[in-house]
Amino acid sequence: MKVTELTQLKGVGPGTAARLAKLGLHSVEDLLFHFPLRYQDKTRIAPIGGLAPGQTALIEGRVEAAQIAYTGRRVLVVRVSDMSGQLQLRFFHFSMAQQAGFKPGQRLCAYGEVRAARAALEIIHPEYRLLADAQQTPTDAHYTPVYPATEGLHQRSLRKLTQAAVEWFARPGNGLEELLPAECAEQLADGAAAISVQQAIALLHRPPAGTDLEALTEGRHPARKRLVFEELLANILSLKRLRAKHRRHKAEVLACEGRLFAQLVQNLPFTLTGAQDKVIGEILADLRTAEPMMRLVQGDVGSGKTLVAVAALLQAIEGGFQAALMAPTEILAEQHYNNLREWIEPLGVRVCTVSARHKARARQAVLRQIRQGQAQLVTGTHALFQEAVEFSSLALIVVDEQHRFGVHQRLLLKEKGARGGCQPHQLIMTATPIPRSLAMTMYADLDYSVIDALPPGRKQIRTVALPERRRDEVIARLHESCRDGVQAYWVCPLIEESESLQCRAAEESHRYLSGVMPGFKLGLIHGNLGGDEKESVMRAFKAGEINVLVATTVVEVGVDVPNATLMIIDNAERLGLAQLHQLRGRVGRGERQSTCVLIYAPPLSEKAARRIGVMRKSGDGFEIAAEDMRLRGPGEILGTRQAGQIHFRVADLSQDAAQIRRVLQTADGFLERHPQRADKLIERWLGRFSRYAEV
Ligand code: ADP
Ligand code: MG
Repeated sequence: MKVTELTQLKGVGPGTAARLAKLGLHSVEDLLFHFPLRYQDKTRIAPIGGLAPGQTALIEGRVEAAQIAYTGRRVLVVRVSDMSGQLQLRFFHFSMAQQAGFKPGQRLCAYGEVRAARAALEIIHPEYRLLADAQQTPTDAHYTPVYPATEGLHQRSLRKLTQAAVEWFARPGNGLEELLPAECAEQLADGAAAISVQQAIALLHRPPAGTDLEALTEGRHPARKRLVFEELLANILSLKRLRAKHRRHKAEVLACEGRLFAQLVQNLPFTLTGAQDKVIGEILADLRTAEPMMRLVQGDVGSGKTLVAVAALLQAIEGGFQAALMAPTEILAEQHYNNLREWIEPLGVRVCTVSARHKARARQAVLRQIRQGQAQLVTGTHALFQEAVEFSSLALIVVDEQHRFGVHQRLLLKEKGARGGCQPHQLIMTATPIPRSLAMTMYADLDYSVIDALPPGRKQIRTVALPERRRDEVIARLHESCRDGVQAYWVCPLIEESESLQCRAAEESHRYLSGVMPGFKLGLIHGNLGGDEKESVMRAFKAGEINVLVATTVVEVGVDVPNATLMIIDNAERLGLAQLHQLRGRVGRGERQSTCVLIYAPPLSEKAARRIGVMRKSGDGFEIAAEDMRLRGPGEILGTRQAGQIHFRVADLSQDAAQIRRVLQTADGFLERHPQRADKLIERWLGRFSRYAEV
């Protein structure tokens, strides 16, 4: 795409251009797509009598009086009135000259946020201007944009620069190309089709007086819808293109009859659920083709994702290839290793694990087995692909419990696994259900399956919330339950990021609980323990030798001890919904009634109270995820803000979700019908970031 040098703009020399480049603004196009966060209204004068606290307004009036007050510190208070009422302006920093300007009777205008002070309304440190008697109050023809704070660049400069960019594009011959084909008009709702991309952009930068600002910031305005549509489309298309590219690679055709898995299923004490069956069918259909599978499986906690993964793994192994299963934590990787050995070794399959607890010698031996192909199924954490693990014939990678597995990681994996022109199939299983529309947007490079039912006989986990002053009652209950043979988790999260502080909290709880529960066996597990220790504690808990497992959030995902039926989460107010749901999902895995106790420290913030309310009300991961999205926004949930995966310029998935369905419809087949437009759209919205450029 044509990129316009910043120096084309009037008043921008090489110096300014260099400074802008440091802020990530490299071209006139970058400026044009740098959108305001919100707006100020200086288009009209608000009568003082009609102001309400919280409102940001431009007022005009005359000075009644100005005086210095001493309320702990020196403050200049200026009383101003118009025909309708009175308010005060308050300054903590002011010069003599400023003070002298506020003579009684002086006309002025002021702009700022109105607050309720003790006696009257007030504005603290307004922007203001003194006016001559005959002078008209300067009002703007446009709302004033407020841009995302950019260090080293003032709002005033940004306004000038974006204005110049808008004007540059308004010149004949410079206009932005219309990239949405005519067929989109139908998909673009509510008049959005009537606005050109250029008009829409200009309107976002400088909404004319009278524009419905609320509609604009909340996404209901046609101009915004127009741009959001285009941006979402560009994002989805870029992922789809990625996938199309991926399809052109070859993968091993895994078309064997499924003898091993059938044998395994026969030995299980239960039968597959319909939902598991359906998803396994979708996966096997992928594996039978020569295109690399890229499939995401979502399933609520406890829906039986592991078994679905095993069906895929065995398909690869039966075909004579190696398969790998990756987990996000050591504990989970070990658990998989142990379970899989139990399930699969009787079928004559060699399972091995790459683990941090291995000493150098053992490790070398494992690596050799993997390299030479004796190891058929390999488990481990992501270290599997960061280190010198070489496979001899890897045909499938399953990534377990990893909803934060961004497109970059997926790509990296693919490269590491590539071998002799063939790429491994990939199956990604997410721990946290996300709403379907969001999943389809974020994972448009993947096919998508949902395990939409739990195994039969599962009872809803009873969830209660208690303030911390009742902790002793909880402990008494725990005591009683343990006497009845119940196994329990006691999780101590801390708000501190620091792993070692978390561990200390768990250690202290362990000490305390051990003291008050003599005669019972309490285990302790946290991130600072060595691999061997973790492994033996988990083993003992699973074997029923430990009554209470005191833990940090290391047991958050995947841990499966069906006999444990009591989950106590201390300081539950500190955790997000997804985490709470995951932790609670450690119980309720068998047929017995399970209980989850959330201990919290009052007073609860509004959001924490809502989280705990949702947990008590709902056990459905999809419902909880939807609520989580409302509370936190999709960026936080996907954890991709850090990974830089979502960087929308105008779209905000929590409020623009309504458009996604239409965008997905448009995206369907778009690459084939309009390859050039697709290229340009991707370039326009993502290109300058070159997000996936390295691919
Ligand atoms: P997820 O990973 O989806 O949270 P798991 O794969 O750990 O769930 O399975 C949860 C528990 O349910 C495990 O103990 C597993 O053995 C059991 N399970 C899996 N599938 C079934 C089924 N079809 N019927 C009964 N129990 C099942
Ligand atoms: Mg799991």
